[in-house]
Amino acid sequence: MTSNEIRQSFLDFLESKQHTIVKSASLLPDAPNLLFTNAGMNQFVPIFLGQSNCPYQPGRAADTQKCIRAGGKHNDLEDVGADTYHHTFFEMLGNWSFGDYFKQEAIDWAWELLTGVWGFPKERLYATYFGGDDKGEADLEAKEMWLKYLPEERVVPGNRKDNFWMMGDTGPCGPCSELHVDLTPEGNCGAKMVNADSPQCIEIWNLVFIQFNADEQGNFNPLPACHVDTGMGFERACSIIQCTKGFTDFSGVISNYETDVFTPIFQTLEEMSGKKYGSSMTDPADIAFRVIADHIRCLGFSIADGILPSNEGRGYVLRRILRRAVRVGRALGFKDAFFYKLTDTLADTYGDAFPELRTNRDRVEKTLKAEEESFNRTLDRGIELFEQVVDGLEGKTFPADEAFKLYDTYGFPLDLTEVMARERGLAVDAEGFEKLMNEQRERARADYAAKKSVIMAETAGLDVKPTEFVGFQTLESEALVE
Ligand code: ATP
Ligand code: MG
Ligand code: MG
Ligand code: MG
Repeated sequence: MTSNEIRQSFLDFLESKQHTIVKSASLLPDAPNLLFTNAGMNQFVPIFLGQSNCPYQPGRAADTQKCIRAGGKHNDLEDVGADTYHHTFFEMLGNWSFGDYFKQEAIDWAWELLTGVWGFPKERLYATYFGGDDKGEADLEAKEMWLKYLPEERVVPGNRKDNFWMMGDTGPCGPCSELHVDLTPEGNCGAKMVNADSPQCIEIWNLVFIQFNADEQGNFNPLPACHVDTGMGFERACSIIQCTKGFTDFSGVISNYETDVFTPIFQTLEEMSGKKYGSSMTDPADIAFRVIADHIRCLGFSIADGILPSNEGRGYVLRRILRRAVRVGRALGFKDAFFYKLTDTLADTYGDAFPELRTNRDRVEKTLKAEEESFNRTLDRGIELFEQVVDGLEGKTFPADEAFKLYDTYGFPLDLTEVMARERGLAVDAEGFEKLMNEQRERARADYAAKKSVIMAETAGLDVKPTEFVGFQTLESEALVE
């Protein structure tokens, strides 16, 4: 199955179970406290909170949701390139019940889709359930339901962090069950590995059973109507189906990047660079392939949704990600702007499922090109400075004033300098950097206040000697928090 067929078969399956198929919401979230849309359920929060009525009859919906996890509560940016199944941008397939069906159907249908429709081998699946703690009882209902399909040793209890979902400190919440897939060549990973965040046994689908309302006192009160919220990693599903040749061979590389979700981007990169992707986890060029392919999706989809790189908030998250991509491009031999040239591949590969990539193709390309060219002007000199500093360094700490110079003069976001330092076994003095940033903010405020008082004096008709205007310093925003 191609990735487009896999996505469609998910939606068709849920449609056959009376779900209304809805469109992915924008990556720009409605909620002010979110950086980016980061889960399928974001767009349904008002329904869960009872603030809007469920428009679906019956109360069921399914979709694929564009998600970005590169800041705030969910930040997978540092995993990108280093592993093969966490992305900044990914699609989350999901199905929901709004006071309609509950655990039994959610579990039965997840099982039917994975093993029946897609053909996942049963003996490679593990289900987890909330194992209980001092604050709440174990979800034995879910456990029992999984035991219908799986032997006891593959129904595994999990802790609150992994198996109890809350929207915030209060509000709708409940236990969740996750499906994990054993990817070891022999298929013998064992129950211990399930909750170990191992690439050998990855989480594919999370089924959340919203059955409580948490109040201010920390009580979990049963909800009058229960809901279901599920999320499955689309690229992960594709990797398991495609890389094992339809589950017949688990001996090769099983990686999201080895699916037709990513291969068109790799092909373009190979043509442009003359290098070949070799699937290595340590080779800098192979890491660069993965980072660039991940980051172009993040940037392209964001810009198409109207979120532009900038110096503030979510815009600065995008700028940082773009600058990382441009910098690792050096590992593939790119000297001139190259990143924007992936725009067409993006539109061609995902344009059927996400037409906004076609409609906004020009905007994506122009924005990327301008961003990239601007950073390219200082990148090489910045790298040179970085190397000089590292050569002359005693100890393991990259000094704050040099990191600040890289930031202020050469446009290196702190996290980029940190990545580069880490590659050399060094750590950046981030605290010192923050201090220098604060001093700069103070200077900018003082400049602004001085200029403002001159303007106010002038408009009041006072004769004052204007101070020299040195321009507004960029006010770096405090990152939005979730
Ligand atoms: P993980 O433990 O692997 O980081 P998660 O528990 O953070 O995943 P959920 O919040 O439960 O993920 O999201 C639902 C599903 O979305 C996951 O089961 C996984 O398949 C997929 N997913 C989560 N984060 C990513 C990511 N960064 N890139 C690709 N897929 C992801
Ligand atoms: Mg995670
Ligand atoms: Mg998890
Ligand atoms: Mg999860």
